[in-house]
Amino acid sequence: MPRPVIALVGRPNVGKSTLFNQMTRTRDALVADFSGLTRDRKYGEGRYEGHRFIVIDTGGLSGDDAGLDAEMARQSLQAVDEADQVLFLVDGRAGLTAGDHLIAEQLRRHGKPAHLVVNKTDGQDPEMAAAEFYELGYESVFLIAASHNRGVRSMLESLFPDMLEEPEEDEADKWPGIRIGVVGRPNVGKSTLTNRLLGEERVVVYDLPGTTRDSIYIPYERHGEEYTLIDTAGVRRRKNVNEAVEKFSIIKTLQAVEDAHVVVVVVDARDGLVDQDLHLIGFVLEAGRSLVLAFNKWDGMSVEDRESVKREVDRRLPFVGFADKHYISALHGSGVGLLYDSIHEAYDSAMTKWPTRRLTEILLGAVQQHQPPVVRGRRVKLRYAHQGGSNPPRIVVHGNQVESLPDAYRRFLENTFRKVLDIWGTPIRFEFRSGE
Ligand code: GDP
Ligand code: GDP
Repeated sequence: MPRPVIALVGRPNVGKSTLFNQMTRTRDALVADFSGLTRDRKYGEGRYEGHRFIVIDTGGLSGDDAGLDAEMARQSLQAVDEADQVLFLVDGRAGLTAGDHLIAEQLRRHGKPAHLVVNKTDGQDPEMAAAEFYELGYESVFLIAASHNRGVRSMLESLFPDMLEEPEEDEADKWPGIRIGVVGRPNVGKSTLTNRLLGEERVVVYDLPGTTRDSIYIPYERHGEEYTLIDTAGVRRRKNVNEAVEKFSIIKTLQAVEDAHVVVVVVDARDGLVDQDLHLIGFVLEAGRSLVLAFNKWDGMSVEDRESVKREVDRRLPFVGFADKHYISALHGSGVGLLYDSIHEAYDSAMTKWPTRRLTEILLGAVQQHQPPVVRGRRVKLRYAHQGGSNPPRIVVHGNQVESLPDAYRRFLENTFRKVLDIWGTPIRFEFRSGE
């Protein structure tokens, strides 16, 4: 099941980002800020009682008739299009404004049903605060105070009654083999690479029911191994080569990342690393997915340009030292076969299971090499480690006062586990638990 998508629209200052933060706070900083591409739209993942959804803070429908930026409005409306639920926020303190009317009008013309959310109802009678907004003609109205997290929960309950009853199972698991997501900005070469990765394989394309915001899942075999390629570029949906390339969709990208075992982030080497590339990589890490980087269009680049890209990679990507980096030409096919080696290595690392004895041995070896520090007069004690999960590997470290372990020591532990267990291509999650 693709995660439900909720779009927040409304004038500036009505409380969209406050509500966005409330809805996404269960997962710190999981915010893909695709600035430039999407102006100031923000995407985040929300969790509520084991269910997950995507929230978009559109930011683009200002309702300011003077300065309504057409491009921003267009982009916000694209987000509105992709959403399952649209929440139109208004400010219960400021009262109904001309801007609210304008936005209501835009939404109406757009033909997307929305719910009205009257925010900032704290410190006043909520019904009184909401009264004047009924003139906007919405049937579904929620009264909330986002900054006090009031009304948010019951709003979610009514938005997703079905969703909340039944915890999500991992639908992606029905696809065979290693699930490879190919993601990247528009025009970096995703379609070209997708075709290369599939090669001449005869593939059966299962089009997911739903909208163009869904990726296509393509199961195939290569050298006797099974894979499912998650095609965000819509390559195989096109009936012929002349059909227009699908519009780039961030939601599609985010869902592909979540559903993949290994994500190949495609970067246009000729543009160098741009901020959106970094946001995408950041998102893959937050999601805990394995990562392979493909710097594409390497053909025909000058030696100086190649050197400069490599320097930039060293300078700006130190935080993904564990990920393989390939310099490829999807167009000519060079370097593409090697991607498969990295994909396998990353997948194996992400899925391996280690016995508690082995992890504890490594932990105690690390401690011997480097004593944990003394905090508030007592030395932090690390006793044993066990594995809490895979994809990404989770290593749970037990001891005393472990929550006081400084970051430097945590990094030392991560490096030690990585080296000894030969974990490559995937992030590792550490969890520290104190107790006797
Ligand atoms: P945005 O521009 O729509 O994203 O609005 P923000 O989320 O930045 O909020 C604008 C201002 O309203 C901030 O100062 C918030 O602290 C405040 N605010 C947001 N929600 C509430 C609320 O429920 N009650 C009150 N009193 N203030 C709020
Ligand atoms: P997508 O939007 O990310 O799916 O990108 P496409 O695969 O449609 O590629 C965008 C453009 O870049 C097309 O004109 C491709 O022919 C071109 N392109 C893709 N890969 C390469 C490459 O490795 N080298 C060169 N020179 N051009 C490429």
